[in-house]
Amino acid sequence: MDDLAYGTRNKRGDWAPNEPATPAPLFVFPPQPLELLKWLPHYFFPYNALFAASAVAWWYWVLPGTEVMKTLAWGWILRLFVANCVALFLFFGVFELRLYILRGQGNRFKYNARWPSEQKSAAFFFQSQNIDSLLRTFGTGMPIWTAIEVAILYAYANGYVPWLTFAGHPWYLFGLALVVPLIHETHFFLLHRALHWGPLYKWVHAVHHNSVNPSPFSSLSMHPVEQFGYLGVAFWHLIIPSNPILALYQLHFAGFGAIPGHIGFDRIEVGGNAAIDSHAYAHYLHHKYFEVNYADGLVPFDKWLGTFHDGSPKGEARMRARYEKKKARVNAAANREGR
Ligand SMILES: [Zn+2]
Ligand SMILES: [Zn+2]
Repeated sequence: MDDLAYGTRNKRGDWAPNEPATPAPLFVFPPQPLELLKWLPHYFFPYNALFAASAVAWWYWVLPGTEVMKTLAWGWILRLFVANCVALFLFFGVFELRLYILRGQGNRFKYNARWPSEQKSAAFFFQSQNIDSLLRTFGTGMPIWTAIEVAILYAYANGYVPWLTFAGHPWYLFGLALVVPLIHETHFFLLHRALHWGPLYKWVHAVHHNSVNPSPFSSLSMHPVEQFGYLGVAFWHLIIPSNPILALYQLHFAGFGAIPGHIGFDRIEVGGNAAIDSHAYAHYLHHKYFEVNYADGLVPFDKWLGTFHDGSPKGEARMRARYEKKKARVNAAANREGR
């Protein structure tokens, strides 16, 4: 495919789409019903439907019966841990293999011209973004993921929290399933915004930002504190009356769903002249510029708070103006202290 029909490439070889990033037409005023209708299928496909289906699959094929989950025993917990690791490795690995190892579509639709494997950095274990990401993802990420999952299932199995059944509360649970992405977006935005506060950034979130040029395994490459806070979004289903399958969906949405923002490519080519939108641009810009796009654009938090960057020259100018203002504020405070 000719990516220059959809965007431009600068002198360094970085590609940028012609269309600026736009938040979902869900919470816009005035309402845009036509845009909303056009966008609606993207709310379900491919990602959300996949993560919901995976939650159901885990419930029936990976997890044991409720009686077994009433007690913490190595057998079922290890089985769950291995299933989680294998599934994540395969899911992220497909993108890694196709786009970064085989380089199946070369540089087409790739935001950053450089390849992480060719950029050694002292910020990473063994100077390698990929080794660092794999160690963090499987060394701390997956144990934390599984521990959260086990805690939630254990609480449900023992009746510590209300367990609503699909037969008893079909409409309520269906509605709750629909807002799972909104719960994720709100939780992620608040956590992420807090992690950009000076000390927390330095101690915790800087690890994730070592990947300035993110690739698939950067997705969960975080400090353990951030992994716990991020994947802990599933704990909301112990507070909101819910069902363990929806808690699993929430967890999979965060865990498996971390990948779209870190693919590094705007579109993934599938066959001759077709390509799937990766929805990666807004979060790619976050990794590039740090203090923009704290949320993923489902709820326009960044637009409301003035931190949205859509990738256009206008967006760039807005960001620069904001940085200048901030610099002036910091300088003024320093001058006051110096007096
Ligand atoms: Zn990220
Ligand atoms: Zn960040």
